[in-house]
Amino acid sequence: AKNCGKNNAKLYSSALTTQIMSHVKLEVGLRRALQHNELYLQYQPQIDVKSAQIVGVEALVRWRHPEHGIIPPNDFIPLAEETGLIVPIGEWVLRTACLQARAWQQESRRAVRVAVNLSARQFKDENLAQTVLAVLHETGLDPRLLELELTEGTLMDDARATLTTLEQLRAIGIWLSIDDFGTGYSSMNYLKRFDVRALKIDKSFICGLPQDSENAAITRAIIAMAHGLKMAVVAEGVETGEQLALLEQYGCDMAQGYLLGRPQSIDAIARMLAGAQPV
Ligand code: C2E
Ligand code: CA
Ligand code: CA
Ligand code: CA
Repeated sequence: AKNCGKNNAKLYSSALTTQIMSHVKLEVGLRRALQHNELYLQYQPQIDVKSAQIVGVEALVRWRHPEHGIIPPNDFIPLAEETGLIVPIGEWVLRTACLQARAWQQESRRAVRVAVNLSARQFKDENLAQTVLAVLHETGLDPRLLELELTEGTLMDDARATLTTLEQLRAIGIWLSIDDFGTGYSSMNYLKRFDVRALKIDKSFICGLPQDSENAAITRAIIAMAHGLKMAVVAEGVETGEQLALLEQYGCDMAQGYLLGRPQSIDAIARMLAGAQPV
C-alpha cells in the first residue's frame, strides 16, 4: 500500500501553492476567479463494471490562475470553505455541470448521470434545495441525472437538519451518494435512515489491491453491506487491470479511476461517449 502515492504529489503541490501565494492573496484571487471565469470543470467517467459502459461522470473543479497556472481543488476548496466562497463557487459548479450534462444528453441521446461534490458548508445553506431546484429548472436537466456527493462528516454534523435537507433533495428526484466512504468518522446508523444511491469506496482502500489483504477485506465488507442495504458501490482510484478484475469478482457495481479515464474536458468526454456507444 506504499505507492498509494499521488498523495505525495498533492502535498507537494499544496505546499508549493501556499509558498508562492499568501493566504490573503489566494482569497482575493479566488474572489476574482469566479467573476473572471478562471474556474473550469473536468469530468471523470464512472464505468459500469459488468458492461464496461460509461454510466456517469464526476465534475471536478480546477482554477486556471493567470500567473500560477492550474491550481488543483485541494489547494483552494478548503479556503473557499473557510471564507464561505464555497457557496457561490459551488453554485457555479452545479449550474455548469447541469448545463453541460444536459448538452451531452441531447447530443448523445443517452442518459449520463453527472455527480457534483457538495461541501459541508453548502449542505448547511438553508437555500440548498431551492438552489438545486432553480438550477434544474433553468438548465432543463432531468433530476434523475443529477447526483450529489456528500461525505460522512457532512451527514453526521447535525442529524435532524440533515434529514430534512436530504428529504428535500430526494423529493426533487436527485440522487445522493457518500464520498470517500470509510475514511470519515461516522456511525453506520445514518445509512438506514437516509436514502442513498451509492457508497464510493475511498481510493486509499483500492490502491493497495490486490496485494493488501486488509484493504481487500474492507472493500469486500463495504460491498456486502451496501448491497444488503440496496445501495450501489463505486470504487474510486482504480488504476490497474488487476484492481478492476478483483472488484468485478467482489461484485462492485461501478469503477472510477485513471485506468478508466482521467478527469478531462467535456469535449473529450463527448468523444468517449460517442466511441463507447455506437449508434
Ligand atoms: P474526490 O471527490 O474524492 O475526487 C476524486 C479525486 O481523485 C480527484 O482529485 C480525482 O482527480 C482523483 N483521482 C481520480 N482517479 C484517480 C486515480 O486513479 N488515482 C488517484 N491517485 N487519484 C485519482 P481532484 O480533482 O484533485 O479533487 C480532489 C478533491 O477536491 C475531490 O476529491 C473533492 O473532495 C474536491 N473537489 C473537487 N471538485 C470539487 C467541487 O466542485 N466542489 C467541492 N466542494 N469539492 C470539490
Ligand atoms: Ca467526489
Ligand atoms: Ca472521493
Ligand atoms: Ca476526497
